[in-house]
Amino acid sequence: MSADSLLPIADPSPACRVERSSVHGNGVFASRDIDAGERVIEYAGREITWDEAQLRAARQGGPHNHTFFFSLANGNVIDGGDHGNDARFINHSCAPNCEAVEEDGGRIFIYALQPIRRDEELSYSYPLIYDGRHTPAIKRAFACCCGAPNCSGTMLAPKPRRRKAKPVAPHVPSAASTLSSAPAAC
Ligand SMILES: [Zn+2]
Repeated sequence: MSADSLLPIADPSPACRVERSSVHGNGVFASRDIDAGERVIEYAGREITWDEAQLRAARQGGPHNHTFFFSLANGNVIDGGDHGNDARFINHSCAPNCEAVEEDGGRIFIYALQPIRRDEELSYSYPLIYDGRHTPAIKRAFACCCGAPNCSGTMLAPKPRRRKAKPVAPHVPSAASTLSSAPAAC
């Protein structure tokens, strides 16, 4: 046995795992109890420019891929679809139990907002910034199905005045409810 094999592994108890979600596609679930304020996982991925993100989305067939993009304060984007990890499968919720925080160096970490029980699905509020027209098809594609009593019905943020969003956007403001007349895709 080499000395290396005696070293402790980095994370013997990962806090979460990916599984099918009743909300949307894959989701991320607590694999153990998580404390409020605990750092759960990094939102990993390659840092690219906004322009590169637009190119990648276009190449891959449109705005659906924006769901893996995360804006940084410096204007760049983390592409969770490029060298990303399980964090990219965390679903949006209008009543989230986690939040994303950008830390020094442009790294994004997901923190628990409240105690989370084992097997509970992780979620965070992720108002998606979509620069194009909010057509009915786009609204359908980004309908929110989180089931929270306060669900706004959409994952789309109201169209911003500026192009770049803060990485940790506030809870979807009530103005977003103007989009909730979109046909539900849930
Ligand atoms: Zn919702």
